[in-house]
Amino acid sequence: MRKKVLVIDDQKAMGMLLKSRIEARFEVDVLLAHDLAQTQQMLTDYNDQIYLALSDLNLPDAPNGEAVKLLKKSGITTVVLTASYDEALRQRIFKEHVADYVLKEGAGAIEYVLRILNLLLTNDQREIWLANVSDRMARKLSGLLAIQRFKTRVFERHKELLAALSRRTPNLLVMGHANHDNNWLHTLSETRAKYAFYELPILACIETESDINCALKYMKYGATDYIVQPFGVEEFYTRVNQNIEQQQAYQDIKRISQTDALSGLYNRRYCLDVGQHQYLKWQSSGLEVFALLVDIDFFKRINDLYGHPKGDQAIVFVAAQLKQYFEDKVVARFGGEEFLVLGTADNSYDVLVKAENFRKAIELESDQQVGVSFSCSIGVAFNATNFEQLISQADQKLYDAKDQGRNQICHKFERLQTA
Ligand code: GH3
Ligand code: MG
Ligand code: MG
Repeated sequence: MRKKVLVIDDQKAMGMLLKSRIEARFEVDVLLAHDLAQTQQMLTDYNDQIYLALSDLNLPDAPNGEAVKLLKKSGITTVVLTASYDEALRQRIFKEHVADYVLKEGAGAIEYVLRILNLLLTNDQREIWLANVSDRMARKLSGLLAIQRFKTRVFERHKELLAALSRRTPNLLVMGHANHDNNWLHTLSETRAKYAFYELPILACIETESDINCALKYMKYGATDYIVQPFGVEEFYTRVNQNIEQQQAYQDIKRISQTDALSGLYNRRYCLDVGQHQYLKWQSSGLEVFALLVDIDFFKRINDLYGHPKGDQAIVFVAAQLKQYFEDKVVARFGGEEFLVLGTADNSYDVLVKAENFRKAIELESDQQVGVSFSCSIGVAFNATNFEQLISQADQKLYDAKDQGRNQICHKFERLQTA
């Protein structure tokens, strides 16, 4: 079921605008309420289905923020919509444990709503780790992060943190200095050596009042940002969200730069990079190293006879089949209608059996799945002296397969070259 977002605003036009923009951007259903009575009704009807709420601070039948209080009581993550901004109001809003507030009047209001929803709708899949912070700070920050739906984990010992980092990477690491032990500084610098700035943001959390020097020292050891006592809720959220958004943007760029948009497979550049970097490691693993090149037969005819979109469909079908047969390998779109699979295997026979099953699946299922019957030719090479040679031998074998009538596999096998 799609997540539900409740929008509460007495200005109906604003409610409708938010609904259309939010539903256009996210896979959610927006429920609208225009006053407190309708809000109560929505909560009765849908309480456990409402994932988060955007609520006007004051409504005609609720002039003192009663709607926000009601949402808090119902345990619903809430973003407040407010027409005005002043310091006292801001303090009051955050007392109600809201996740954020949006100034409705500004030209950028809708963009801000979409930006904060983008985080709040997915924060429950993000982890923020708190390391070396005092108990009091750990409780405070965990509470604040829970309001924004983040998962948190607290580390009191640097060894535990390093062990956890060797298993997974959080979205943000908040590192304090509750314990002045130098091991923590080493841990910070060790962590930074392992992860680039954009892979793991680290927020230094300085609990000594106004100790900017300590913050700067943490920056030198690898923190990406800092926050120094005394800091308010909003400053903390701003820092967290900015770091998370930057990391997310980097992940998006990385994914786009490695992926082929049509097939969803890795692209040529990425698989060549992986091959070049991994080849020596694969070679010394004692396993068979292989490259498998696939090319659709007479593909130009599919385009010419049925149109380009049908050709695209054929590419997508072949990509999905390859991914299925070689799911744990590097599967890439190498060029137009050519694909490359790279990896290691216990024995070459398994690779050839899989390749043959894949070839048959294309031959037998393409008509039904794509609406055109077609086949593939495949060239496979095992254990060449280096990566370039492996690719070139697979390519040579692909030519042989084409030469010998297409819709078949040719392979070249060299003995394992163990060191
Ligand atoms: P062969 O059996 O010898 O491989 O013949 P072929 O027709 O498959 O090979 P050829 O290299 O002559 O044609 C490849 C065609 O693939 C030419 C190009 O227009 C088309 N192509 C490349 N990329 C795409 C794409 O993304 N979508 C579609 N629909 N066609 C593409
Ligand atoms: Mg072809
Ligand atoms: Mg080709």
